[in-house]
Amino acid sequence: MSLPPRMRAVVFERPGSFAVTDVATPRPGRGEALVRVRASMICATDQKILAGRFPATRFPHVPGHEFSGEVVALGEGVSLAPGTRVGVEVHVGCGICERCREGMYTLCLNYGKPETGHAHVGFTTGGGLAEYAAIPAAALHSLPERVSFEEGAWTDNLGVALWALERGRLAAGERVVVFGPGAIGLCAAQLARAQGAGSVTLVGRGDRLARVRDLVDAVVDVTAVDTLSATADLVVEFAGTADAARSAILTARRGGRVVLGGSTGVGTELSGVDLSTIVRGNLDVLGSLANPKGVSGRALTLLARGEVDVKRLVTHHFPLDRFADAWRTFSERTGGAIRVMLHPAKES
Ligand SMILES: [Zn+2]
Ligand SMILES: [Zn+2]
Repeated sequence: MSLPPRMRAVVFERPGSFAVTDVATPRPGRGEALVRVRASMICATDQKILAGRFPATRFPHVPGHEFSGEVVALGEGVSLAPGTRVGVEVHVGCGICERCREGMYTLCLNYGKPETGHAHVGFTTGGGLAEYAAIPAAALHSLPERVSFEEGAWTDNLGVALWALERGRLAAGERVVVFGPGAIGLCAAQLARAQGAGSVTLVGRGDRLARVRDLVDAVVDVTAVDTLSATADLVVEFAGTADAARSAILTARRGGRVVLGGSTGVGTELSGVDLSTIVRGNLDVLGSLANPKGVSGRALTLLARGEVDVKRLVTHHFPLDRFADAWRTFSERTGGAIRVMLHPAKES
């Protein structure tokens, strides 16, 4: 197919300011594929990027890091069949540093240096809130036949959720408590059940808890979190606040594990935890960042098998040109918004 020289894209022009506008269609460089974006979501991290809280992001910036599409053109050194349906994971390491060699490309020592091959799609390089995106082939997962574009847009998120469970060494039959009924927390809760958790309790606040009640064994409002004190074998936190991190630690039983995955921005301090809770409690308190070691590929396998339902977590749909409405819907959680999906590619 012939590619248009210009395309529609969301552009973060400078901190606090965005527009949907025409930009040059990216050309895939060496090791990259051009993806025609079919489904692309907004997440709270995009709000942090727009606010200028990611120092490695350079404005003007095309955001978008939760998306899927089809391969339409190839850069040098890439062999993928045109038309391949792909989901994107967003961390691409340099491949050479010590962390990359361990498979921990999410911790690449050359973060933010594109000349080394590093890319953080939608953060340090252009993302998927656009009609087309040039993406390193190392970030692409071909979607299983039974996974739709809308589901495939969850490739990165599902990997993040599954990695937190792997960090926490979930064993079959265990009592699991998940903090944070947002998109990632709800993926983690469902994946925990799929992996044989004995029970999964979701902690959060507001209407959202009631709406997702059937995805878990129990829900507890955050105001009653004390009732869970010292009960859980494994606690997974995707709420992103210091309060939630503290409650997560207090919710683990002695000898249990706590995985903190929500607070990915700098500037949030943990306080209010008696150290003896951790030391005398013999707790494993673990940080979990993103989705290394190909975990997103494994997550897609579980998605294809129907072990996790992401479709119902997409509460709203918009064409790309209505990004402003989509952004407002997501930011204000209008109508109980969990994930808001944009559909950049015009139907052909
Ligand atoms: Zn995200
Ligand atoms: Zn590296």
